[in-house]
Amino acid sequence: MKIGFIGLGNMGAPMAANLAKAGHEITGFDTAAPIPAGLTSAGSAADAVRDADVVITMLPNGAILKMVAQQIIPNMKRGAVLCDCSTVDVNSARTVASGASAAGLGALDAPVSGGIGGAQNGTLTFMVGGSGAAFATVSPLFDIMGQKAVHCGDSGAGQAAKICNNMILGATMIVTCEAFALADKLGLDRQKMFDVVSTSSGYSWSMNAYCPAPGIGPQSPADNDYRPGFSADLMLKDLGLARDAARSAGAQTPMGELALQLYEQFVEQEDGRGRDFSAMLPRFVKMNG
Ligand code: NAD
Repeated sequence: MKIGFIGLGNMGAPMAANLAKAGHEITGFDTAAPIPAGLTSAGSAADAVRDADVVITMLPNGAILKMVAQQIIPNMKRGAVLCDCSTVDVNSARTVASGASAAGLGALDAPVSGGIGGAQNGTLTFMVGGSGAAFATVSPLFDIMGQKAVHCGDSGAGQAAKICNNMILGATMIVTCEAFALADKLGLDRQKMFDVVSTSSGYSWSMNAYCPAPGIGPQSPADNDYRPGFSADLMLKDLGLARDAARSAGAQTPMGELALQLYEQFVEQEDGRGRDFSAMLPRFVKMNG
């Protein structure tokens, strides 16, 4: 396929490189990042999309996505599919999708889970909103960049799934960290706590697969001095999207709200910026004295 790829940062660059390695013809554009080997470099976003069957965007936020969409939609060929893989708010995803369909294009919101490692190894999970026809067109590309793609429903459903998942993750990580810090205070050995909880009803992905305590459970950023991984900054972004979605839908999300406040404090007033989101554990230990 001919693919236009816009946004070649930490995630976009390895995703595009995997598509090129699989034999697709990729034209890439980024305002700052270098264009990875194997891609043709375009001088503008519009130039990157003219001949493309599928255009993939991997951008920082909804405002930038909407701006880029205005530049590219008029230059895409009819019947092509615009597939946004960024994590953005549900309303931006729906606005871009309706602009694309008004121009005779297919549109998908397809945010990912799996982080930079998943992007490099082609093991991302895609959660996808949009038409079945557009999903079918892009599916072979999801298979190259990832291990799983779930068609979640109409436009916005992919972003809805992403923010619900990450709201659960943020709150679960915090309570896992505060429980380890409580165990310390109670004189309970961390390894014993892991052995019990990871096989009891308190188990979770945060405990079992991404344990925030160094030297316990599988390898995780805790074993690498809490270098991300998944940064506290990105968790804060996703919890902000969850709060905005909850407000605009009139849904109660008190735990998500509290998780947002804690990550906000951690990133903006403490030493959380640039650290993995599981560094909440040393934070609680420090606060507990
Ligand atoms: P990044 O900042 O490394 O990459 C974004 C790229 O977009 C940058 O290279 C930037 O120069 C480029 N860009 C900005 N404005 C542009 C414009 N107008 N035209 C063209 N290019 C432009 O961010 P990332 O870590 O690659 O994340 C991208 C998206 O994926 C975000 O929405 C993020 O929330 C999401 N995400 C990231 C991770 C992760 O672990 N990094 C995991 C899941 C989802």
